[in-house]
Amino acid sequence: MQTTILAFNANNQLAIRRAGASAGVSAPANAAALPFTAPDLPAALAQLETHFKTHTAPVPCFTFPLDGNETQVYLAQVSPDDAAPAAPEIQFASIDTLVGASLATPSVAPSAANQGVASDAPTSALQPFSLSALSALLPRLAPHLIDIPYLHLGENDFIYKFRPDKERNRLIYQPDAAARALYQSRLCAAIKTLARASERTAAAPVTLDFGAVRYLIPSHFGFCLGVKNAIERAYETLAENPDRRVFMLSELIHNPYVNEDLRRRGLRYLQTDKGVPILATGLRTPASDTRSPESGVQSPATATLWDTLTPDDIVIIPAFGATDEDKRRLVRKGLPVVQYDATCMLVEKVWKAARAFGREGYTIIIHGKHEHEETKATFSNARRHAPALIVRNLAEARLLTDIMHAAPPPQTQAPAAAAPVLSSPVGGVHAAALSSCSRGVHAASASPPASTPAPTPQQLFDRHFAGRHTPNFDIARDLQRIAVVNQTTLLMNETLDIIEHLRSAYAAKYGPAEADARVGGNARRDTLCYATQVNQDALSRALAEPLDAAIVIGGKNSSNTYQLYRLCEQRLGPRAFFIQSEENIRTLDAIEHYHFPAHAPRHESAALSDNTELKPLATPARLAEKNTPLRLLITGGASCPDGIIQQVITRINSHLPPATLRPIESILADLEK
Ligand code: SF4
Repeated sequence: MQTTILAFNANNQLAIRRAGASAGVSAPANAAALPFTAPDLPAALAQLETHFKTHTAPVPCFTFPLDGNETQVYLAQVSPDDAAPAAPEIQFASIDTLVGASLATPSVAPSAANQGVASDAPTSALQPFSLSALSALLPRLAPHLIDIPYLHLGENDFIYKFRPDKERNRLIYQPDAAARALYQSRLCAAIKTLARASERTAAAPVTLDFGAVRYLIPSHFGFCLGVKNAIERAYETLAENPDRRVFMLSELIHNPYVNEDLRRRGLRYLQTDKGVPILATGLRTPASDTRSPESGVQSPATATLWDTLTPDDIVIIPAFGATDEDKRRLVRKGLPVVQYDATCMLVEKVWKAARAFGREGYTIIIHGKHEHEETKATFSNARRHAPALIVRNLAEARLLTDIMHAAPPPQTQAPAAAAPVLSSPVGGVHAAALSSCSRGVHAASASPPASTPAPTPQQLFDRHFAGRHTPNFDIARDLQRIAVVNQTTLLMNETLDIIEHLRSAYAAKYGPAEADARVGGNARRDTLCYATQVNQDALSRALAEPLDAAIVIGGKNSSNTYQLYRLCEQRLGPRAFFIQSEENIRTLDAIEHYHFPAHAPRHESAALSDNTELKPLATPARLAEKNTPLRLLITGGASCPDGIIQQVITRINSHLPPATLRPIESILADLEK
């Protein structure tokens, strides 16, 4: 057994030995391309340290045969800044470059061998060595590219911590008039100063008394620290790299106005919020296009922006985080991941909780929407440590426990002898299917159906949760012990209801004494986002006041905005509105209200395209009433800039007689008293 350390620089490019340089040890020719190869780890480490004094501890990864010797592969990150004088013989190349070079035969002419070699790999670095070692190694390495350790980032560290207030870069919000209109609001700034004694505790709402209309603004609304952090990173990266292409993996946040302002300043997006790659031409690829990035060179007509990436580019990871698959693609391209990773630390906290649960032997149940970027990233992280499953809501949690009750004992895959009892009335086809399944188990012992046997609980699980669980998920084995984490932006009570339901279902199956041990997920590892929670709490306090209507502002694909809207809808029914900006306020009789999700009922006569409908802000009689001011609640989701909130207020005021309104300066004076 020999040892090789694969050393990567901060750009995730692999150290290889320059052509013609001596290996310095009696390594066979193929191994010479891998410069830190020796009979054992201490010797390989000594080689590494002749070139790089600063490096992470090597992480054992896998074994593979190199020149006939079984070789243990370690991964490490090095700091090239302190390279020793002998360093020129060591050069760095991206994995894609090496794959391209290793596909070329060593005997071909240099010009031919250079095809597919990107700028990060000088031809001389790859010739005349036989690259067969790399050919064998690189496919084995591919799944482990996510395991490269990072200097200055321990397992329990956060990629990026919220900046303290005094270190935040507020200049990025005011480079020009467009940005100022988007991000700045004197009203919102005054409200926050007045109402937010604590970032984490909701206080009483603030009233803006304009005369004919009174706005009630919750103490907490709008940008959370995770969103501010991602926005500031994006603007700073653009400003610091005027000569480089800067991409965002997908939308920075779920707000079209913020995303558009960044696009105007040069930021480009690699894929849509649904993960569909964007073509190099700027068009979107058909959703059916499922080519993998490894599928080879694309024609110019179908090449995606992913295909055009080079190590000179920058790709920012948004606040939702990224899947391991996308991070591996970045590593293959020789691009840094951590340096431009704006994953919110509260999302990362969920990943850490999932990892801890996984290590304790729990299966991870993720309460979230499987199509949401954050949930995809959380699932991708969780599956590294344990079997994982995404559950959308309480109804699905009930279906899951029905399946759990019907599952055979572990390692006994024979049909259950007794009919499982359905613990809850789950609506829809799947409950009916499960119900017929359990009846089918009964019937099977007496007279098996001739042609269409009832599906087994495992088949029902596979059918209902298709695409939302780890491969080979075995309901008998993998539902023995479960722990719940969640998408950060959902309603806290719904996650707690799910945990409560799971506990009682497990108590029914295993006895109350065992339920706590079998169902993890509690305040100790609370994975709800406090910013989401405090916005919801502040809104609930405001909703307790007398109101004519409530308007929630945010991007159409913003999950946390939708949750705020749901709270308003529960209290005010059709007098709750979900809008994106002041542009949705045509008149007070015609507000463009967005339905999220799209299947919500609406009035056909007033329906517009894009799942919106026109609704009046209040009844005609109420709008005509002159003596009592309109009482409107206004709030914004975590991705809604303050400027838009103020513009909504301004637009509503513009539809009221000016003589009935107090000037904004007078409102500000009230707030600043
Ligand atoms: S809503 Fe919460 S989890 Fe999401 S970005 Fe903001 S602070 Fe982070």
